Amino acid sequence: MSTTYRAIEVSRPGEFSEVQKPLLDPGPNQVRIRVEACGVCHSDSGTVEGLFPIDWPRVPGHEVVGRIDALGSGVQGWAVGQRVGVGFLGGSCGYCEFCRNGDLVNCRNQEFTGIHHDGGYAEVMIAKASGLMSIPDDLSSADAAPLLCAGITTFNALRNAPAKAGDLVAVLGIGGLGHLGVQYARHMGFEVAAIARGAGTAELAKKLGAHHYIDWAATDPAAALQALGGAKVILITASGGKTVAATFKGLRAGGVSINVGVGPEPIEITSLDLIFGERKVAGALTGNPATGDATLRFSALTGVSAMIETVPLQEAPAAYAKMMAGKARLRMVLVMNNGAGQGTPMK
Ligand SMILES: [Zn+2]
Ligand SMILES: [Zn+2]
Repeated sequence: MSTTYRAIEVSRPGEFSEVQKPLLDPGPNQVRIRVEACGVCHSDSGTVEGLFPIDWPRVPGHEVVGRIDALGSGVQGWAVGQRVGVGFLGGSCGYCEFCRNGDLVNCRNQEFTGIHHDGGYAEVMIAKASGLMSIPDDLSSADAAPLLCAGITTFNALRNAPAKAGDLVAVLGIGGLGHLGVQYARHMGFEVAAIARGAGTAELAKKLGAHHYIDWAATDPAAALQALGGAKVILITASGGKTVAATFKGLRAGGVSINVGVGPEPIEITSLDLIFGERKVAGALTGNPATGDATLRFSALTGVSAMIETVPLQEAPAAYAKMMAGKARLRMVLVMNNGAGQGTPMK
């Protein structure tokens, strides 16, 4: 077995390089993974552009699927050869106040994959066992990768939302997150309204399962939602506080606007719009590993899948640039040369 592996690391903000790194044994409570596929996500900019404090160099990537090839001491419940996934949250500590309360997502000692430690733009990755997700056999590694971040984020937000079957749920933005959000919302039994700019997205939205398409360029989205009876939930997948504010009045009384699109813009909502109608605005952060398992199983059962474009590992910088330019259709996925990344999708 080779004593090194290939990785694409960022040596300083904006600068990628292909390197050989020494193969290390996993430490206590860690596993070593032979990576088969890794999604390219907008949150990778947190590493690549140095938005988080980064200890350079760093390998980005937090939508990682691969097979365990070594177990560190103390790891239980996982086996060598098992196919696993790693998402943005690198694994909970098990002893902080939030963990002891069962809130693994908000663990105070949680490391972020590809930010605090090396991620999946590589042939090998070391991961904390407490963060692992289990990949169903009927999902290929490339298909599973984006579900570990964009998938779990939209699935978890909708699953924990107050909407019941038949309620109107709106998904704002039909990009990497939104195109999954629309599919999940449809398969969870909601009446689904997709909101995006331009008539060109209408066909895609319908194909993904939306019952209604609201063209923001042609109509006021809040008024359009009220004409449908008002939304119980609006899932905001596009970044920018303005998207939240402009659609907020489209909520029915007791409705909630859930923000999963990251952006620096403040959200301007009047207290009147909050109070009269008892509306809420909320955020949602991916989900715990069991929710990740549920996301993958639900996706396999219902046929929900990300629209992906696969590229070999060495083309990671170009894939990242394409994603940042908004030209990915709709998620870019790096596949490794071990031949397993493409898998055998059984659809
Ligand atoms: Zn992500
Ligand atoms: Zn903890």
